[in-house]
Amino acid sequence: MREIQMVDLSLQYENLRTEIDGAIRSVLESTAFIRGPEVKLFEEELSRYLGIKHVISCGNGTDALQIVLMSLGLKPGDEVITTDFTFIASLETIALLGFKPVIVDPEYGTFNISARGVRKAITSRTRAILPVHLFGQCADMSGIMELAAEHNLYVIEDAAQAAGAGFIKAGGEVLKAGTIGNAGTTSFFPSKNLGCYGDGGAIFTADDELAAKLRSIANHGMKQRYHYDDIGINSRLDTLQAAILRVKLRYLDSFNMARKAAADFYDEALADAPLVEVPERSAFSTHIFHQYTIKVKNGLRDRLKEHLAARNVPAMVYYPGPLHLQKAYRYLGYGENDFPVTSALCSEVLSLPMHPDLDQEQLNHITGSILEFFETI
Ligand SMILES: *Cc1c(COP(=O)(O)O)cnc(C)c1O
Repeated sequence: MREIQMVDLSLQYENLRTEIDGAIRSVLESTAFIRGPEVKLFEEELSRYLGIKHVISCGNGTDALQIVLMSLGLKPGDEVITTDFTFIASLETIALLGFKPVIVDPEYGTFNISARGVRKAITSRTRAILPVHLFGQCADMSGIMELAAEHNLYVIEDAAQAAGAGFIKAGGEVLKAGTIGNAGTTSFFPSKNLGCYGDGGAIFTADDELAAKLRSIANHGMKQRYHYDDIGINSRLDTLQAAILRVKLRYLDSFNMARKAAADFYDEALADAPLVEVPERSAFSTHIFHQYTIKVKNGLRDRLKEHLAARNVPAMVYYPGPLHLQKAYRYLGYGENDFPVTSALCSEVLSLPMHPDLDQEQLNHITGSILEFFETI
């Protein structure tokens, strides 16, 4: 059996080697390392894939959030609502720019914030909502967009973990994650569903004026050469990464389908596992399984993780601690028990190996090892 990894990037490279090597070589030969033609082509191809007018590439997914937050005319102390249970980037960029992060607890089942949760956090200082489509599935964008319209708020979707996921509207229309709010962001970190071979990110928007502003901010605040209209930053997707992403984008749907097949197998194999809850699937979203995250009850999560490690099955805890309790964010004044759902999740979640190239022998070994643990305790 091939060694099991959380994400098997070397096998993926082997499978795509000819195309990837060709793409890299053509950039090397052109020497157009910055703002080469591949960058624009990739932006156009991604915009077509997502069904959104503007894609603005940038240096990484954290920059993408920062650039959007810089573009909206927010003032120091303005409040931005986001989740307690995610990667730090959303909270960090809000705080970095001098805005006030307002944290809400996610839903236990889907790991995502709900419109009901957001509503309770809205004040007269609220200016934006920043939902994160965690682990590959969309938050309730209909509910969140309704709230935003009611209270005149911006919506910024962090779709770093949801490349290709679809939000299903009440009438059945499917919109891609990140294309529903005023702006959406993503990351091309290598282990993301659409990953490059280094750092990369992008912003999506349907708004022409906002798109121009975002492009300017990502490029030193410059619209016309050496004229600076905005305070900007320097954040670029380099040409090599764009060339690699053009190859990988063509496979994104088939990779996401392979992830879903693995998830379907996990669901079925673990259905009768005592003390294991498989991930809930929202009725209003497709799931592209950036992570397949189970909940392990009765405080057994860490013991199961050790048991799996002894059988060469890696598993990871995303995320081990609530954001509101991190040292850097204590100034926000939240208390130990303010977000009980996140606290419960942090002690129960375990993400299993998940990538498009898991084979049946590996899947059998992973689920067999989990079932074995519950037989032996
Ligand atoms: C990966 C990730 C980011 C940050 O992306 P980088 O490219 O590493 O900056 C932001 N938000 C979420 C939810 C992520 O998973």
